[in-house]
Amino acid sequence: MTDKRSHPENKISPDRFIEVAVSLPVFSTYTYSVPDALQDAVACGKRVLVPFGRRKITGYVLGPARNNDIPGIKHIIEILDEIPLFPTAMIPFFKWLADYYIHPLGEVIKEALPGGINLNEQISIRMLPESGNSYSRELLPAPEKEILSALETASCTLPELGRKLNREIPSSLICKMEKNGLICRKRELKQPVCRQKTERFIQLAEKAPKSTQQPDAKLSAPKLKILDALAECKEISTPGLKEIVPTANAHLRKLEADGYIKVVQKPVYRDPFGESVAPDYPPALTPEQEQVVSQVITHLGTGFNAFLLAGVTGSGKTEVYMHIAAQAIHQNLTVLVLVPEIALVSEIERRFRARFGECVAVLHSGLSTGERFDQWLRISNRECPIVIGARSAIFAPLADIGLIIIDEEHDTSYKQESRFRYNARDMAIVRARQEGAVALLGSATPSVQAVFNARHGKFCELSLTKRVFAQEMPPIHVVDLREHKGFRGIRRFITMDLQKAIKDTLDRNEQVLLFLNRRGFASFPVCGNCGEPLKCRNCDITLTLHQKDNAYKCHLCGWSLPATAVCGNCGSASIKRLGMGTEKIETVIQGLFPEARVARMDRDTTARKGTLVKLLKSLRNREIDILIGTQMVAKGHDFPHITLVGIICADLSLSFPDFRAGELTFQVLAQVAGRAGRGSQPGQVLLQTYNPDHFSIIAATRHDFMAFYNQEIAFRKAFGYPPFARMIQLKISGRDMKKTARQAREIGAMCDRLKKDHPDFAQHIHVLGPIEAPITKKANRFRWQLLLKSPSAECLHRFARTLIFDNGLNISGGPVTVAVDVDPFFMM
Ligand code: ADP
Ligand code: ZN
Ligand code: ZN
Repeated sequence: MTDKRSHPENKISPDRFIEVAVSLPVFSTYTYSVPDALQDAVACGKRVLVPFGRRKITGYVLGPARNNDIPGIKHIIEILDEIPLFPTAMIPFFKWLADYYIHPLGEVIKEALPGGINLNEQISIRMLPESGNSYSRELLPAPEKEILSALETASCTLPELGRKLNREIPSSLICKMEKNGLICRKRELKQPVCRQKTERFIQLAEKAPKSTQQPDAKLSAPKLKILDALAECKEISTPGLKEIVPTANAHLRKLEADGYIKVVQKPVYRDPFGESVAPDYPPALTPEQEQVVSQVITHLGTGFNAFLLAGVTGSGKTEVYMHIAAQAIHQNLTVLVLVPEIALVSEIERRFRARFGECVAVLHSGLSTGERFDQWLRISNRECPIVIGARSAIFAPLADIGLIIIDEEHDTSYKQESRFRYNARDMAIVRARQEGAVALLGSATPSVQAVFNARHGKFCELSLTKRVFAQEMPPIHVVDLREHKGFRGIRRFITMDLQKAIKDTLDRNEQVLLFLNRRGFASFPVCGNCGEPLKCRNCDITLTLHQKDNAYKCHLCGWSLPATAVCGNCGSASIKRLGMGTEKIETVIQGLFPEARVARMDRDTTARKGTLVKLLKSLRNREIDILIGTQMVAKGHDFPHITLVGIICADLSLSFPDFRAGELTFQVLAQVAGRAGRGSQPGQVLLQTYNPDHFSIIAATRHDFMAFYNQEIAFRKAFGYPPFARMIQLKISGRDMKKTARQAREIGAMCDRLKKDHPDFAQHIHVLGPIEAPITKKANRFRWQLLLKSPSAECLHRFARTLIFDNGLNISGGPVTVAVDVDPFFMM
C-alpha cells in the first residue's frame, strides 16, 4: 500500500530548476535551482524559502521551470513543508485565477492558504540609544521627533509605524534618519504564527521486560502499571497515560533512560466542533427530490456538468445535497460544500455531521488560526472527503473532487471585497470544470446571472416546487407606509396592523420574526440647531447611534464618538436621533410587549464567537418570542414555530446606487418571507413599504421569481448591464485628495489613448468615469472609481491588462493604489 500522505503525484522528476511564485505583488513567476541536498524533498505545492533581491521570502513550488537559461539563477534556501499544502491539480486553478482577476499569483496562493503559516522576512525599525538624548532631540524637525517617540516603547515595521502615526511614512525619511544615526533597521525572519500542534506519545521500547508478570526487582508498582498499560495499547499519549496512572509523569524520564520506553512527538488536531451531534438517517425522498437526485448522480464522475437547482424555501434542498454527496463518496470522489458566511455553516455543518460523522471538515472565519490550519492539514492528508465552508473554502486542498455544491448561490457573501477580489461562486464553476466535477448551484431565489446561464444552456435547470410537508407558501400582506406618514416617531413603522398581528401571534404561543436591514439605534443623528448630520472623522458617511455602547459609531471604519458628543459644526448639544435601526425597534417592541421575550440578531449582537449559535438555539428551543434582525435572519434557517414575519421597511436597499438594487431587494424579501410557516402551523408575512408598486416588491409578495426575472432582465438588456455585458472596476484610493484625483484622471486619459490607438477597443470598450465614488472618503482614504464595460469578456480583459501592465499601474502600495475588481458587486 502506498502512503497517501506522500502525494506521489506532487513529485517533480529530477530537475534542477523549478518555477516558483513568490508571495509578493509581482505578476511573473521566477526560476530557481534546487541544490543536490534538497532534490529529494522538493515537490509541487510545498513552500520554499528563496532569496529575492536582498531579502528572503516564501515562495510556492509550481513545477519544473520552463525557462532555465537565464543567467544568475539562484538556489532555493530551504524547503518549508514536509508534505505539499495543496494538490498539483490546483496549480492550473491558481493560475487561472491570477489571470482572470488580474492579481499576482503568489498573492492568490497566499490568500488560498490558511493564515499565519508564512515565514517572511521583515524589516524592523529600532531607535538608537543616543537619540534618546532629549537635548539634541528637541532640535529635530517635528516628523522625526514624532517617529522617535513612536519608537520609544518598541521597535516596529514601517507599515506599523505608519499606522501608529496615522499617516504614510516615506522610506526616504527613514533612510535619512538612519544615516543621521537616530535609528537603525534590522532584517529579521518573522516566525509563522501557526505550527502543527504535537503531543507526546509513549511506546514500549525493545528493552522492556517481555512480561511484567515476572517483575524486575528494580521496578516500582506505578512503573509496572505504566508498562502494563503500554503492553496493552502499544502507544498512549501523556494525558491519556495520566488518566490510567496519575503519577505517570514522574516516572517517564527514568523509564526512558533505562530503555524501557520511547517518547515520541506526534501531530494532533485541535477540535473545532463544539458539541457532538446525534446521528440521523436519510429519510425517503419526495418524488420531486428523487427526480433531482437521480438526474444529478448519473453525471458524477463523468466530467464537468453544472446544474442550477431552484427550490422554494423549505423544499428540502439540503436533503438533496446530502443524497448526492453520499453517492459521490460512494464513488470515492470528494465533495466541497460552499455556504454563505457564517450562520449557515453551523446549520449545514450540523446536518452533514449528523449524516456523515467525522469525515466532514469545516473551513470558515469563525475558526481560530490554529483550528483552521488543522482542518487544512486534515483535508490535505485526505482524511475528510467532505469539506463545508464559507467562500474561502473554495481553496480547500481536496483532491479528486467529484461534486461542488454552492448553496444559496445568489448570496453576496461569496464575493470578497478586499485584498484579492474574487467571487467564490464563479470560481466554483471554474474549479469544477478543471477537475471534471459536477457543480450544483442551489437557491430559492437564484441570481439573475444564474438563471440567464440556465436559459442559455450553460447550466442544466432543476427545480423543487413544493415544500416538503406540503405547507403553503405564506400569504404576504402589503402595508403601504405612505398612508402612515401622518404618524409621528416610531408609530410610522410599528403600524397598528403590525402590532395587532404580533399580538395575535404571541397569543397563539407562536414566534415572530421582525426584519429591518439596518443595525444600530438611530441611523441619522442630526444637529437640532444647524441641521448638520453627525459624520465620521475618517469617512464621508453619517454615524449611527448605538445605545447599548453609548456611542455614535461609523459602520465603515469603526471610529466612534461618545453619545454625549456635540455638533462639530456649531457646538450645539441638541442632537436629534433620527432614523432607526434594529436596536431602536428592539427597545420599542419590548416596550409594547413587556411580557414577551425579545432578542436581536445582527452584527452587533453576534460579534463574539458562539453567540450566534446560542441565539439560534434559544430560538429553536422557543426561549425567544420575538426575534428582531438584519439580513442575517434571512439566511436559510429552519424554524418551524415562526408563523409571523414582519418586514419593517422593505425599501432600504432599493435606493442603493447599484444596478443590482432590485435583485438584492427581491432576494432578501423573498428569503425573509420564506422563514414563515415552515412547520405545521400556517404562516403569514406583513410587508411594509413606501413603494408598493415597485416590481421587485410586487414579485416578492407573490413569491413569483419568474415575474421578477423577466422584468429585471429586460432592464439589464436595455442598459447594457450584466449578464449582457462584463465589467471591471478600478478602485483608486489614496490619503491625499489631490493626488488621488490626479491619478484617477490620468488613468482616464490612458483609457482614452488606448481606445484611440486600437480600433477594437474603441468599438467594444465603454469607459465610465473616472468619477468620485459615492462614498467619497473611507478610513481616511479618498476614493475614485472607473468602470470598464464591454459585451466581450475577452476584449475587456485584454484592455484592462494592457492598461495595467503597459502603463505599470501600481496595484498595491504607494500613495495612490489602484485595486482591480473584476465582475464588481458593490460599486459604492
Ligand atoms: P431548504 O434547504 O430547501 O430550505 P431543507 O432541506 O432545510 O429545505 O428542508 C426543510 C425541512 O424538511 C427540514 O427540516 C428537513 O429535515 C425536512 N426534509 C427535507 N426532505 C425531507 C424528506 N424527504 N422527508 C422528510 N423530511 C424532509
Ligand atoms: Zn450644529
Ligand atoms: Zn469611518
